[in-house]
Amino acid sequence: MSLRLENLTLEGHDAPVTLTIEDQRIAAVVPTADTPQAGAPGGGVETIDATGLLALPGLVDAHAHIDKTLYSGPWVPVPELGSVHERIAHERAVRDRYGLPRGDYVSALVETMVGAGTTHIRTHSDVDPGVGTRGVEVVADVANRYADSVTIEQVAFPQGGLISNPGTLALLEDAVAAGASTIGGIDPAGFDGAPLEHLDAIFDLAARTACGIDIHLHDSGALGAWEMAQIVDRTTAYGLAGKVAISHAFGLAHEPTQDALIERFAEAGVAIVSAAVYDVPVPSLAKLAAAGVTFASGSDGINDLWGPYGDGDMLRRAMLVGYRNSVRTEAGLQQALATATTGAARMLGLEDYGLGVGDLADLVLVRARCTAEAVARVPVREVVIKAGSVVARDGRYLS
Ligand SMILES: [Zn+2]
Repeated sequence: MSLRLENLTLEGHDAPVTLTIEDQRIAAVVPTADTPQAGAPGGGVETIDATGLLALPGLVDAHAHIDKTLYSGPWVPVPELGSVHERIAHERAVRDRYGLPRGDYVSALVETMVGAGTTHIRTHSDVDPGVGTRGVEVVADVANRYADSVTIEQVAFPQGGLISNPGTLALLEDAVAAGASTIGGIDPAGFDGAPLEHLDAIFDLAARTACGIDIHLHDSGALGAWEMAQIVDRTTAYGLAGKVAISHAFGLAHEPTQDALIERFAEAGVAIVSAAVYDVPVPSLAKLAAAGVTFASGSDGINDLWGPYGDGDMLRRAMLVGYRNSVRTEAGLQQALATATTGAARMLGLEDYGLGVGDLADLVLVRARCTAEAVARVPVREVVIKAGSVVARDGRYLS
C-alpha cells in the first residue's frame, strides 16, 4: 500500500507537489503539475488531496513525563508549593492515592499527543525505591501498544534523588533492563547534595549500559553553570558526544559564563532541552543556533501533580519557545519550530528524519502557507502520518 499526497505545500518548492510514500518512506516529490496521472484511484494507492496543506516533519517531544499524568482522570488541584523539593515531596506523598502511574491515563495522553502530530516522544519515567521500575513498565506497555502511531523512548529518571536516596542507582540499572534507553539525573548539587558523586554515578552507569544521558538541571546561577561545565567535562571524558542532554539548563541564564558554556556545548556535543514554561529562564534560540548547539523542546509535565497545564501539543510548544525568545521574524519562527522537529530529532539520534526522498514518512499536514505561519497560528493537525500510515485526522487519533 502506498500513499500519495497531491497539491501539497512543501517549503523550498515553488509550486504544489505530489509526495509519494512507499514502504514507510518518502519515495518521490515532484510538482503536481507534472504528474498527469495524479488523482487516479485504485492500484493500492491511497490519495489525499492536500490542497492548502503544508507538510511539516513529524513533531518530536524531547522531554515529557507521561508516567506522571492525570490526563483523562480526576481533576486534582495543585497546592501552593515553593520549591522543587516541596513538589517532589508532595508527589511522593499523594501519588499512590491516585494510583499513579496508570496505563489508561498514559494511553489517553499518548492518543492526544498523536492527534497533535507527535510521532516521537522521549519521556522521563520516575524510578525510586517507592515506585520501583513500575513507571518504566507501564510506559513500555503503552509504547508497545501504540508503536504503529508513535515511537516512545524512556529515560530512567531518579526524580526523588540518587545519592541521597539509597537503592535508586541499582533501580536505574533495572530500569534499563525494563526498557529505558537513557540515564536521567536531577540537580546533582541543589537537590541531591552530592554533585560530583551524582555525575560520576550516572556517567559510569551510562557507560556500563551503553545508554545516553539526559539530566534535569534546575540549579541556577553560578552553581548551575558550574554543574554544566562538569557535565561537559564528563561528556568528553566518556566519549559521549551527541548522547548527552541537559534539560531546563536554568544556569545558562547566568551571563558571566553563558557564552563560554555555549561554545563548550557545541564542541562537546551536549544538547539543550527547554519546555519554555512559566517564568523560568529559556535558552536563547539565536545564540544556540549560531553556535550550532542542538536545541530541543518538550512538553515537560502534562496535567499532573506538579502542575495543571499542558496539552502535549508540540506545535504550540514551539510557539512558546519562540514567544519566550521574543521572536517575530520568519527565521526566528523557523528556529522555534526546529526545537520540535530537526533539533529534537538530532538530540534523539533519529535517523532518516525529515521531508526528503528516502526519509521515513512521519509527516504532519496543517493549513498554513509556511512554517512561520504554522508556528504563529498553531492550526489543527489535519493529517498525521506515522511510517507511511495515517494515524490521526482533524486533530484526533484514529483508533
Ligand atoms: Zn522534566
